[in-house]
Amino acid sequence: MHKMFFSLCFRTSSKAVGLLCILSLTGGLASGQTQVDPETALRMLNAQQQQFDKGVVKVADNVFTAVGFHGANTSMIVGTDGVIIVDTLFGPTSAANAAEAFRQYSDKPVKAIIYTHSHGDHIGGGSAFVGDEKPEIYATESFGSAEGVNKAVDPVKQKRNIRQFGRQLSPSEITNRGVAPAGTEDSDRGKGFLPPTVTVPSSGLKTTIAGVDIEFHIGPGETDDAMFIWLPKEKVLFAGDNFYSSFPNLYAIRGTAYRDVLNWSESVGKMAALKPRVVVPGHTMPIQGSQAATEALTDYSEAIRSVYEQTVRGINAGKGPDQIAHEVKLPEHLKDKPYLIEFYGTVPHAVRAIYSGLLGWYDGNPTTLSPMEPKLKARKIAELAGGTQNLTEQMNVALAEQDYQWALELSDHLKWLDDGDSKRARKVKIEALRGLAAREYNAPNRNYYLSYANELESGKLSELWF
Ligand SMILES: [Zn+2]
Repeated sequence: MHKMFFSLCFRTSSKAVGLLCILSLTGGLASGQTQVDPETALRMLNAQQQQFDKGVVKVADNVFTAVGFHGANTSMIVGTDGVIIVDTLFGPTSAANAAEAFRQYSDKPVKAIIYTHSHGDHIGGGSAFVGDEKPEIYATESFGSAEGVNKAVDPVKQKRNIRQFGRQLSPSEITNRGVAPAGTEDSDRGKGFLPPTVTVPSSGLKTTIAGVDIEFHIGPGETDDAMFIWLPKEKVLFAGDNFYSSFPNLYAIRGTAYRDVLNWSESVGKMAALKPRVVVPGHTMPIQGSQAATEALTDYSEAIRSVYEQTVRGINAGKGPDQIAHEVKLPEHLKDKPYLIEFYGTVPHAVRAIYSGLLGWYDGNPTTLSPMEPKLKARKIAELAGGTQNLTEQMNVALAEQDYQWALELSDHLKWLDDGDSKRARKVKIEALRGLAAREYNAPNRNYYLSYANELESGKLSELWF
């Protein structure tokens, strides 16, 4: 029934109505489930593409946001004798394109650059905006702390990053990255980085730059070094990556340290309290109009808090992360909001992150204090199935019935067995991953499934398939 409704919507309607149809559709899904039929998944991801259509959006008489020039947004605030740039994209190539697009609106010199946080897609292109001038560069005291704690595992994080963003997918497999387009120019990463010259203290900062009143508010969330920027006269708010049009990435599957979810909710709540006329996200289109902007921020803050509180209730009821991840849902009045659809972050990933962030890896069940070594467990599962041959058969049946998750789990057991057909297990895993990918509208999951399948197929992954 959903599918029929969906295709009807798309045949007859404009882009905007199409989006409404998506909302009606997703309203019928269990929250946290980002699997739908393949046609619908693709349509949803294609519709989300509008969120990063390349162009400059005028968000106030003197404020312009360049969307779709790379993964993130960059903005220009025009003052009396100069301009202020908020975030600088990933590298000088994409930043130069945005700077050129901005010049249609102002060619005044750059007086200041502001980094909302230290993620590479916001700080790498500064040099492309400035000529001979020496602008002040604003960042928080803790600038750069975001990824510093887990540098030791960079080798594996890089592999997982490639998968999450689908960096090596073929053109026919590529969709987008949930809150960013795919296929961005990344080879010049960080080459235009200009280091901060002004530290915003933990109490924040109110000042005037090029005649523009501007406020810096510390706002930890996606990173601990994040801040949001407020123009009190224009009532424009730059949210950085604590807000964009998707359920937030409270955990990134490329691997991250715990992102303090309560802080994130609180920071977005503070933004909502300012009642902005426009909210400019770190990624995706600005949301314009006082009511729409304020409501979006209020909802976002509440959604994050709700997922946190439900998870905590589950924990205190003695439940483990697997169970809670399947139970937590966005509240009824929030689940259809366009900026809370799980294109980038997902509720179940968030639940698991909160669980391990608050309690560490142990789920409290003594069975898991010292679980069996995987190879031994695989042998016992095979015995339970009536032998390796039967286990293989059940794996094949699971694949044929498109029970992809079960096919994956059985193939993971089979790969450990000395008498198992590891080639067959590998093939089943590849097909099951592609089956899951086709149904996914969460971009990181989809990209990860596809990338991993390709790595398995090419023989790039080791025998153990990690
Ligand atoms: Zn970003």
